[in-house]
Amino acid sequence: MKEWKFDTIALHGAFQGVKPNTMTVPIYQSLAYPFADVQQGADAYAAAREGLFCYGRWDNPTVDVFEKRIAMLEGGEAALATSSGMAAIHLVTHHLCAAGDEIVSSNRVYGGTFVLYEAGLAKAGIKVRWITEPTDLQAWEKAITPRTRFLYVESPSNPSLNIADIRALAKLAKDRKLPLVVDNTICTPALQKPFEMGADIIVHSASKYLSGNATSLSGVVVGGKDLIRDLRKGPMRYLGPALSPFNAWLLLLSMETLSLRMERHSQSALALAKFLESHPRIASVNYPGLESHPGYDLARKQMKGCSSLLSFVLKGGYDDAVKIIESLGLWVHATHLGASRTIVTHPASTTHVSLGPEELKKAGIPANLIRVSVGLEDPEDIVHDIDQALAKLK
Ligand SMILES: *Cc1c(COP(=O)(O)O)cnc(C)c1O
Repeated sequence: MKEWKFDTIALHGAFQGVKPNTMTVPIYQSLAYPFADVQQGADAYAAAREGLFCYGRWDNPTVDVFEKRIAMLEGGEAALATSSGMAAIHLVTHHLCAAGDEIVSSNRVYGGTFVLYEAGLAKAGIKVRWITEPTDLQAWEKAITPRTRFLYVESPSNPSLNIADIRALAKLAKDRKLPLVVDNTICTPALQKPFEMGADIIVHSASKYLSGNATSLSGVVVGGKDLIRDLRKGPMRYLGPALSPFNAWLLLLSMETLSLRMERHSQSALALAKFLESHPRIASVNYPGLESHPGYDLARKQMKGCSSLLSFVLKGGYDDAVKIIESLGLWVHATHLGASRTIVTHPASTTHVSLGPEELKKAGIPANLIRVSVGLEDPEDIVHDIDQALAKLK
């Protein structure tokens, strides 16, 4: 049979139907799955046959379709769904590293990942060597030691929107016989395919674009069959951050429209970025789809679109940022991204509130920086809302 293309997989992948017939994947809200006989129980535990399930902490028929479908969309062999993106990242690090081991990671990573690597893994005796300029390949090479277990990168990064050269990092990882782990949350496989560029393991916060409407905390690891089997039988079994069947079902529904949404998100974000870049009250705009962005060429080479995350810096200070946030009527003020509604975040008063002015500057997050996750509303309405808010500044 002809191999299905992306959008067909998003609708039909890994689901052949059940009796009685259903159009969508049913929710199997069942924690255990009675065995027909002793042999079937033994086969289920040995994972000897496809389609036999044991216990909800590590397998479930609804979650199984989600796992197979996202694996197909990423072009990977298998996947393991988790209760959150952080759970996915933790399972991978826990599995690949023991006390005394090291990770080499870009420092442009999601805040939760940074805390896990810096504080959480330190408790387990695992050390992270940070790369401050992810495109500096020599820095990566120098940071690798005999104790390194994997390289880690997030591209584009949240919230700094740094673009890393995934192909170059994959080549370096291969030369040094190390796996490259890529956080593909911001692009999703609709816009970026890290496996095609040589990555070995992909992690996602499925809570963002895969879920798409801010309903379901969720994550997933995609990788080789052996890795996924070992994760399922090992850390998923004894740590237990499993995805609920209901959240898997919501993800399957949302993913039917993934590529349509990512295309629209990218188009509207570019339109907004261009508007903001030309506005007299705005000092700078950070969006990889703008030619002014340092990662513009790289983004064009490895992404089909630049997704919906962008940030901008006002010419005015903290008070102006507050005024803008409070003058917006349509954009939702929340600390989330990747949803159908446009979301505005003010890092200095929320996610990064614990940092003082000097630390904020060092982190590249000034007090007058505003982050936006551009939604699926009519792009004219999105632009109009910020336009009227900017007009309220003195
Ligand atoms: C949100 C996010 C995470 C963490 O995911 P949760 O589902 O919130 O646990 C990891 N990586 C990136 C890039 C994110 O944006």
